Amino acid sequence: MRLILLGPPGAGKGTQAQQLCARYDIPHISTGDMLRDQVLEKTALGRKARRFMAQGKLVPDEVILAMVAERFQKPDIANGFLLDGFPRTVAQAVGLTSLLEAAHLELDAILAITIDAEVLVSRLSARRTCSNCKTIYNLIAQPPKREGICDVCSGTNLVQRDDDQPNTIRARIEVYERQTLPLLSYYRPMGKLLEVSGQGSVAEVQERVQATLPPAKETD
Ligand code: AMP
Repeated sequence: MRLILLGPPGAGKGTQAQQLCARYDIPHISTGDMLRDQVLEKTALGRKARRFMAQGKLVPDEVILAMVAERFQKPDIANGFLLDGFPRTVAQAVGLTSLLEAAHLELDAILAITIDAEVLVSRLSARRTCSNCKTIYNLIAQPPKREGICDVCSGTNLVQRDDDQPNTIRARIEVYERQTLPLLSYYRPMGKLLEVSGQGSVAEVQERVQATLPPAKETD
């Protein structure tokens, strides 16, 4: 399964991605996670990306495309992959098309999660991520079973992302509407664009996503 997950920040892409990667046994390629790792490691790329991320702006296309091209060299993508947070501009989508053509690979589906903008700010303000295993929680809708402790790895560091502050959240939503939404028109003519509503609980969205995508065994 070669899949792109599209949707505004807070639509639930990361949470759905974790479940879909387990279902199809494919790697989760999140450019946001890759960039945050680079920032933590204080690499040259991380230092460059940091200021864009802190303002809720997009990191330049050429930086992202080089990072994804390098990621595509790893053998684990042979069985497929899920792209989360990439592509985010038409230029990145065009770059991805070239990368895939060069590797003789085709996308199976582009899954777009749609959601009202008002829901996003409250969702993102309550988001916490385990700094160890990256499991995502929502303090209101999906809290960990024991306060402050990750259900998956028992890590005790559930952190709020630097860019999940109200002003930055609004900037990120605007950037999404201006730069990423046009991707729907780029992918629609391919006939592989699937749209699901991201309103409601994680389980409700998951049910819709499962009903929309083919079962895992058909893709073996
Ligand atoms: P995310 O975790 O996907 O919400 O990404 C967090 C931040 O990383 C974004 O607000 C951008 O600053 C940056 N970022 C992640 N993926 C991309 C991308 N494909 N293109 C440009 N910037 C990105």
